[in-house]
Amino acid sequence: MTELVWFRNDLRIADNAALTSACKTGHPVTACFIVTPQQWQEHDWSAARVQFMLEHANSLSKTLAKLGITLTFLHADTFSSGIKALEQHCRLHQIRRLYFNEEYGINERKRDKLVWERLTELEVQVSKYRDQTVAPVGQILTQKNEPYSVFTPFSRRWRVWLDENQPTLYPAPAAVGPEVTPELTETLPSPFKDAPEPLFAIGEHAAHDQLETFLTERASHYKDHRDFPSLDGTSQLSPYLANGVLSGRQCLIAAQQTGYSGEGIATWINEIAWRDFYINILYHYPRLSMHRAFKPETEALKWNEPGEHFEAWKEGQTGIPIVDAAMRQLKATGWMHNRLRMITAMFLSKNLFIDWRLGEAWFMQNLVDGFLASNNGGWQWSASTGTDAAPYFRVFNPVTQSERFDPKGEFIRRWVPELAKLDNKRIHHPSKGGVVPEGYPRPIVDLKESRKEAIARFQALKD
Ligand code: FAD
Repeated sequence: MTELVWFRNDLRIADNAALTSACKTGHPVTACFIVTPQQWQEHDWSAARVQFMLEHANSLSKTLAKLGITLTFLHADTFSSGIKALEQHCRLHQIRRLYFNEEYGINERKRDKLVWERLTELEVQVSKYRDQTVAPVGQILTQKNEPYSVFTPFSRRWRVWLDENQPTLYPAPAAVGPEVTPELTETLPSPFKDAPEPLFAIGEHAAHDQLETFLTERASHYKDHRDFPSLDGTSQLSPYLANGVLSGRQCLIAAQQTGYSGEGIATWINEIAWRDFYINILYHYPRLSMHRAFKPETEALKWNEPGEHFEAWKEGQTGIPIVDAAMRQLKATGWMHNRLRMITAMFLSKNLFIDWRLGEAWFMQNLVDGFLASNNGGWQWSASTGTDAAPYFRVFNPVTQSERFDPKGEFIRRWVPELAKLDNKRIHHPSKGGVVPEGYPRPIVDLKESRKEAIARFQALKD
C-alpha cells in the first residue's frame, strides 16, 4: 500500500505539512500534480503564472525523485475531470491514503469535498492540512469567535498567536527509497503559450537565496524604501509565495532569525500578516470567490461602460505617466510594485469609475504572482468595496503619488520612453501647460472632476 501526496499550490519540499506527514508513515510514498488548463483559464490565470508554476512542478519532481518519490503529472481539463483522473490513479496504484494542503477558493473547496467523498467510497483515507498561512486559517478570531474584518485588530491577535504558539518549520523529509527517474511535464498547455520572458529564477533553492539576500541586504531599509518603485526595496518573493514554493512560515521565521529588531523587519512581517488576513477573509466569506463585493451595499454602484478607457488603461495609454508606466511594466514582465498596484487600481475604479472586477481579472490574466486572496483584497481595498477599505472619499491623485514616490521620474522614464527627455517636474504631468510629447496621449480623464464624481456616486449610495 502506498501514500499519495497531491501537490497544488504548495510546490515545496521543506516546511510542507502534507509531504512531511506522508513521509513519516514509513510506507512507500508517491506524489501527483494535476494539470487543468481549462480550469486555470476560467480562473483567469496568466501565462506567466502557469509557466512559473509548471517549471516549479518540474523542479519539484526532480527533487522528489532524489528522495525516492515519483511525481506523476495527471492531465485533465477541469477540476471535475481532475477528480476522475485522481480516482483512477488511486485505484491503479493501490493508494492507501491521500495527503494535501488546503486551498480556500470556492471551486477548490468544492473540488476537495468531492475528492474526499469519492475517495472515501474507494476506501482511500484522506488527510488534509491547514498549511497555507502562518497561523492556521480560521484560528485568528475575535473574542466572540467571529472572523476579523479589519486588518489592524487581526494583526494584533495574530501577533499574540505567534507569541503563544511559536510556529516551527516542518522538516524536509529524508529519502523514503532509492532515487527514481523524475517525470516531467514537457509543454505549456496551449492557452498559456505567450508568457513574458521569465523574471524569476526557478527552484526552491533560488527562492531561499532571494529571501536571504533580501533579509541581509535590504530588509533593514524596507520601511523607508518599499514605496519607491524605482528602488529595489521589496523582496519580490510574491510569485514564490503565491505558488507555495516558499511558505509564509519560512519567511516569518527567517525574518525573526535575522535578530534585527528595527522597523524594517517589523514592517515586512506586517506584510506577511496582510497575506494571512486576506486568506482568512477568502475562507470566511466564500462570496468573494464569486465576484461579489465584501460590502454588499456597493453592489448598487453604477459603473461606467468599460469601452475605450478600459483599453487605454490596459495598454498603458491613459496620458497619466505613472499609471502608464505601471501598466506597461505589468504587461511586459508579469509583475508590478505594490504602490503602483494601488495607484492603478484606484485610477481604474475611481477616476475612470470602471468596475473593479474588470481590473481584478486583468491583473490575474497578467500577474506572475496572481493570487485570488491578495488580488481580490487589494482590488476591493482600492475600490472601497472591501474589508478595511480605503474610505470612498480618499482617492489617490496619481500625479501627486508620482511626484512623491518617483520624484525623479526614474520609473516612468524606464517604461514610458516617449517622456524620457522631460525634466523631473514635467514628467509627472506632461500635458500641464504645454504640448504633450509626440506619440504620448493627453490624459483621458480630468483627475479633479472624476474624483468629485466618484465621491458623489458613493455618497448617493449612502444617502
Ligand atoms: P513585499 O513587500 O516584499 O512583501 C512580502 C510578501 O508579503 C509579498 O510577497 C506578499 O506575499 C505579501 N504581501 C505584501 N503586501 C501584501 C498585501 N497588500 N496583501 C497581501 N499580501 C501582501 N499580492 C499577491 O501576492 N498576488 C496578487 O495577485 C496581488 N494583487 C494585488 C492587487 C492589488 C490591486 C493590490 C493593491 C495589491 C495586490 N497584491 C497582490 C499585494 C502586493 O501588491 C504584492 O504582494 C506585493 O507587491 C508583492 O511584492 P513583494 O513580494 O516584493 O512584496
